[in-house]
Formats: sequence, C-alpha cells, structure tokens
Amino acid sequence: MEKIRMITPLVEMDGDEMTRILWQKIKEKLILPYVDLKTEYYDLGLKHRDETNDQVTVDSANATLKYGVAVKCATITPNAQRVEEYNLKQMWKSPNGTIRAILDGTVFRAPVLVNGVSPSVRTWKLPITIARHAYGDVYKNTEYRVPGAGKAEIVFTAPDGTETRQTIMNFDGEGVIQGQHNTDKSIASFAHSCFKYALSVRQDLWFSTKDTISKTYDHRFKDIFAELYESEYKAAFEAAGIEYFYTLIDDAVARVIRSKGGFIWALKNYDGDVMSDMVATAFGSLAMMTSVLVSPNGQYEYEAAHGTVTRHYYRYLKGEETSTNPVATIYAWTGALRKRGELDQLPDLCAFADKLEKATIATIESGKMTKDLVALYEGEATGLNSDDFLDAIAQTLNTL
Ligand code: NAP
Ligand code: MG
Repeated sequence: MEKIRMITPLVEMDGDEMTRILWQKIKEKLILPYVDLKTEYYDLGLKHRDETNDQVTVDSANATLKYGVAVKCATITPNAQRVEEYNLKQMWKSPNGTIRAILDGTVFRAPVLVNGVSPSVRTWKLPITIARHAYGDVYKNTEYRVPGAGKAEIVFTAPDGTETRQTIMNFDGEGVIQGQHNTDKSIASFAHSCFKYALSVRQDLWFSTKDTISKTYDHRFKDIFAELYESEYKAAFEAAGIEYFYTLIDDAVARVIRSKGGFIWALKNYDGDVMSDMVATAFGSLAMMTSVLVSPNGQYEYEAAHGTVTRHYYRYLKGEETSTNPVATIYAWTGALRKRGELDQLPDLCAFADKLEKATIATIESGKMTKDLVALYEGEATGLNSDDFLDAIAQTLNTL
C-alpha cells in the first residue's frame, strides 16, 4: 500500500514518562505504516529541556509560529521533587506556559465521546468545547487584608502623573480588597482565537460573562468580542452557517445543561477554570479530553489534556504491565494531521485522520478498551493493556 503523502512537516514535541512511551507506540502502530510522516522533531523531555536550558521549548514554539501546526506529548512541569529526581540545573517553567506565551493563544478543550460511556447530563449528545481565556483577572490579582477602619480606593496614574481615583469602600472595620486587571490586547487575542477556532470546526460560539453586574470590566470583554465579530468574522460565520451568541453567564449555564452539546463555550479565566472541570467530569474521563492551543493568527498546537501519568510510568519502569489510555494522545495526532491536511490541501491526510478516530471509537464500542474506561462502560467490556489496545485499534483500522 502506498503511504499518504505530506508536504509541510508537523512540529513534533516529544514529552515525558508514560505518555512518551505511548507516543512512540502510537507512531509505530497507527501512523507510520500509513503516512509518509514528516515532522520537525523537538525533544521536550525534561532531561533534554535541562540540557538545552529550556531553549528547546522556545525553539519548538517558534517552529509552530513558522509552520502553523504542532502536536505535543504531555510534559513534566518541574517542582522541587522533580528538580531532585532529574538533578535539574533549575526549576524550569511549565512548557505549556512558555509555549502559550509565545503563541499568545487560547486553549480549547473537548471530550471524545463514545457510545457506552454516557455523560452525566442526559441531553448531551455532542462534545462541548470549553475555551478559557488564559490571562489576567483573579490569576494576576493584588490582594490586601484590610486591618481595620479606613478608605480603600482605586488609583490610576497616567504617564504625565495625572491621578484618577475611585472609592472602593469606606471601611469601618476589618475586611479584604482585591485589584484585578485585563488588557484590551489580551481580550482581543482571546476573541480572535475563539472566532478562528469556531470557523475551523464549524461550530457555534457562545460567550458569557457577568456584564450585568460588572458593567465596565466584563462589559469590555463583551464589547471587544462584538466589535471584532461585526468587523472581521460575521460574513465568514454566515457563510459557514454558524452563529456567534453572547449571553449572561447565568443564562449560559442553564442553556448548556439543557443543550445537546456541539458548540464552543468561551469563558473568562476563572469561569473557564471552574466550568472546564465541571464539563470534563460530566463527560466522563480526563483520559478522553483533548486540548488544542490556538493562536490569534491561526497557529494550532494539539495535545491531550492529561499529564504524563506518572503513577503508571513508575509501574512500567518496574516491568509491570500498564493500561494507560492513549485516546487523547491519538486525537492530538489526528487533530494535527487533519489540520495539516486542510492547510496543505491533502484530502487523503484528512481522510486518514477521520479513519483513525473512527477506528479508535469503533474499537472501544466493540468492548475493547483500557481499564480506566471499563469502570465507566455500560456494556460488556474487556480491559486491555496499552499495547493490546493499540493493536486492536490497528486491526480495526485495517478493516475500514
Ligand atoms: P496525570 O498525569 O493527568 O494523571 C493523574 C491520574 O489520572 C493518573 O494517575 C491516572 O489515575 C489518571 N489518568 C490520567 N491520564 C490517564 C490516561 N491517559 N490513562 C489512564 N489514566 C489516566 O496528572 P498528574 O499525576 O497530576 O501529573 C503527572 C505529571 O504530568 C506532572 O509532572 C505534571 O507536571 C504533568 N502534567 C502535564 C500536563 C501537560 O503536559 N499538558 C498536564 C497536566 C500534568 P490512576 O493512577 O488512578 O490510574
Ligand atoms: Mg481547575
């Protein structure tokens, strides 16, 4: 059989621990036999990050800016224990944080659905994708414990020294205050990423904030989204037959629960943090959550939402069999290959990505899955180790 041709390389970001093991096996068993794979390889494994003083992470992000599509394996974010374990020169920053800062992107998370693993919400039939703004608000706040009576103010000092003051509260006793900010630039990047992603997957985009209460702060988010939609995206949305829709977050929550899914829900930083955990849990399993970072200029980095599955890796190192779920990592590859196929106009590559996803789902729906899913599955199920599960997917793939 002739292998499927590629034109532009994918930026391949290898990673750590159990997911690094799965990475190799997924390529070997499910991609290399079918695709004449072209990648520009960056080893983001912690050892190599340390050897390069983390330059490799920066290089891989810059390569993503250059080529447009990356696929990333889960990586260790070092803490004190990891510094010791890997004898690191220093506690390197989170690779995802570094890449996100260079791409200035927004993270979109969506569950992979299979028949037999039902969402806790009965009406949900299609995935709900959460787009979380990843800058500012309460995550970059300044807090103050008010010790007693006194006046709290917001003071803004312009470069020429002009001060603008607003009273927050005249305290007559102890309390707390908090200062938060965001920038028009960051909000606009968030909006561009959301509009571009919605067009790329042809799904409606919902956006919600608490603008009825936060009449300046949250309202600014609402206005920036509305302005950019009108001036840059409305025609494309209409042509694609999709909708942009803003609503108050209270209303959005009620609508999400009553919906059948199949849309993107954009949220401010804190709302996105909380709602993505709620939606992910209600859909079933972290091992089935995919994630893609989209830059405002339309560059894409695909990955699994979970980490390096350390506990399984330590068992693997002891020679024990593990049943680590590769689905989200397979979907990182299919997402990246499909996007590369779209950009390079390679319909065979897109069709292969579709087929590999179909084979993955069909294998699970035939009752073969990793052990984490057996617990959630409503039918007869066999729990396989990772290798046997990947082989089963390859077998299904060959019948499609
Ligand atoms: P984790 O790797 O997501 O694993 C947490 C637990 O969830 C696992 O122990 C396992 O539970 C279950 N799990 C997660 N993915 C699974 C899969 N594919 N198949 C089966 N079970 C799965 O999170 P963590 O243990 O908190 O973090 C480990 C390392 O990953 C850390 O060094 C962290 O820095 C890194 N991390 C990286 C990323 C990223 O690169 N995007 C994201 C998060 C964390 P059981 O052990 O009960 O089976
Ligand atoms: Mg959270």
